[in-house]
Amino acid sequence: MGAGVAGCTAAILYGRAGLRVAIIEKHRNISTHKALCGHFVLGGTQPMLRRTGLWEAMADAGAAVGDIARWTTAGWFVPEPGPPECISLRREKLDPLLRTIAAGTPGVDLLLGRTVTGLLESGERITGVRVGDEEVPARLVVGADGHRSPVAQLAGVTEDTAPNERFGLWAYYRGVVPRGPAANQVWSLDPDVGILIRTDDDLHMLVAFPAKARLADFQADRAGELERFIASLPDGPDLTSAERVSKVIGTNDYPCVRREPAPRPGLVLVGDAAITGDPTPAVGCGWAFRAAEWLVDSTAPALLDGGDLRTGLAAYRKALDFVVGHDRLGRRDALARPTNPVQRLVTKGVHRDPELARRAYLFSMRAISAGELMNPRTLLRALWAAARPALRR
Ligand SMILES: Cc1cc2nc3c(=O)[nH]c(=O)nc-3n(C[C@H](O)[C@H](O)[C@H](O)COP(=O)(O)OP(=O)(O)OC[C@H]3O[C@@H](n4cnc5c(N)ncnc54)[C@H](O)[C@@H]3O)c2cc1C
Repeated sequence: MGAGVAGCTAAILYGRAGLRVAIIEKHRNISTHKALCGHFVLGGTQPMLRRTGLWEAMADAGAAVGDIARWTTAGWFVPEPGPPECISLRREKLDPLLRTIAAGTPGVDLLLGRTVTGLLESGERITGVRVGDEEVPARLVVGADGHRSPVAQLAGVTEDTAPNERFGLWAYYRGVVPRGPAANQVWSLDPDVGILIRTDDDLHMLVAFPAKARLADFQADRAGELERFIASLPDGPDLTSAERVSKVIGTNDYPCVRREPAPRPGLVLVGDAAITGDPTPAVGCGWAFRAAEWLVDSTAPALLDGGDLRTGLAAYRKALDFVVGHDRLGRRDALARPTNPVQRLVTKGVHRDPELARRAYLFSMRAISAGELMNPRTLLRALWAAARPALRR
C-alpha cells in the first residue's frame, strides 16, 4: 500500500527477487507527489542507492549531489573529503521516477487511483486488503502509506507519539549565491535551524525550522520572514539576485510517530508508517529507502519458498533498531530545548579532534549507529579534546 519512497523501493526489490507485487496507490496520476518533503537524502543512504541502481537513476534525472557543512555556535564544521555525499531530487521528479521504475519491474503491478478501504482478516492474521468492492489477497500486506498510515489504523495498531516543538517552512529559489563552505549548509542556532540545499534544475531550497515560540512572527509574510531569517544567518547566502519560483510550503505541527513494524501476522509497516521522525535532520526518505531494502532482504526468501515469515520479520525489526536509536535522539532534539552540557562538550570536541569530527559527521549523515557516537569512549575523547586548541578548519 502506497507508491511513495518506501512502497516503490520495496516493490522494485521484491519484483527483482522474483515475487509478484501489487502497489496500491490512492492517487490517479503517476506524477502526484508528496509536497511536504525536503527530499534531501543524507550520505548514509548512498551505499543502498548505489547497490540498487537508484542513485544513477536519480542522478540521470538531474539530482544535485554534494556534501554538507554545519554551522554551530563553535563555527563551521566542514567534512574532510571522503564520506559519502548527499543527493537531492525534488519529489515532483523523484516520485514519478520511482513509480516508473517500479511499474517497469517484472512481477510488479502499479495500481493507481485505488484507495485501500479495509483489510481481509482471518482471526489475528491479515490476508489481504479491500479496495472498494475489490478484494486483493496477499501473503504479506506492506503498509507503506505514510505517516498517517490508514492500513495501520485499520489494523488497530497503537501509536507511540512525541511532540515536535519546531515548525518548518521553505521555498525554492533561482539565483541564490551561497557564501558558506560546501554545496549544502545547515545552521544549528540552538534552538532554531536554518538550511540551504542545492537541488535539481539549478535551484536552492531555503528552509527554516524555528522553535514554535516564533510561529506568530512568521504568519503575516511567510516568504519575507523566511528570506530575512536565511539572509541573517552567519555566512548566510546572498539573496540579492534570488527569485522565488515556488510558493512557501510548510507545516506548523509535525509530531513524531512510531508504530510496531510487524504488528500482526501478515502485516508489516515500512517508511513513515513505521517511524515518522522529526523532519529537521532530513532523515525520512533515507530511512524509507533503507528500511525497504532491509524488509525485502529479510522476508523475500520465506515469501519465495512459502516458509514461515516470523524469522524474517524478526530480522527486519532488528534492522530497524538502527533507525530507532537515531529516532530516540531525534525526539529529544525535536523538543527544541537549548543543548545540554554533554552535547556542548561533544560539539566543542569535534572542532578540536579530527577523529571525533569524522565520527560526528558520519553520525549526522546517518552512516553509523547512534551508539557509535554516543558512548562513554566518545565522551572521554571529547573531554580530552576540549582541552586542546580548535582545529583551523
Ligand atoms: C516538512 C518535512 C520535510 C521533510 N524533509 C525531508 C528531507 O529533506 N529529507 C528526507 O529524507 N525526508 C524528509 N522528510 C520526510 C519524508 O517526506 C518522509 O519520511 C518520506 O516521504 C516517507 O516515505 P514513505 O514512502 O514512507 O511515505 P510517503 O512518501 O508519504 O508515501 C505514502 C504513499 O501512500 C499513499 N497512500 C496513503 N494512504 C493510502 C491509501 N489509503 N490507499 C492507497 N495509497 C495510500 C500516498 O498517496 C503516498 O503516495 C520530510 C518530511 C516533512 C514533513
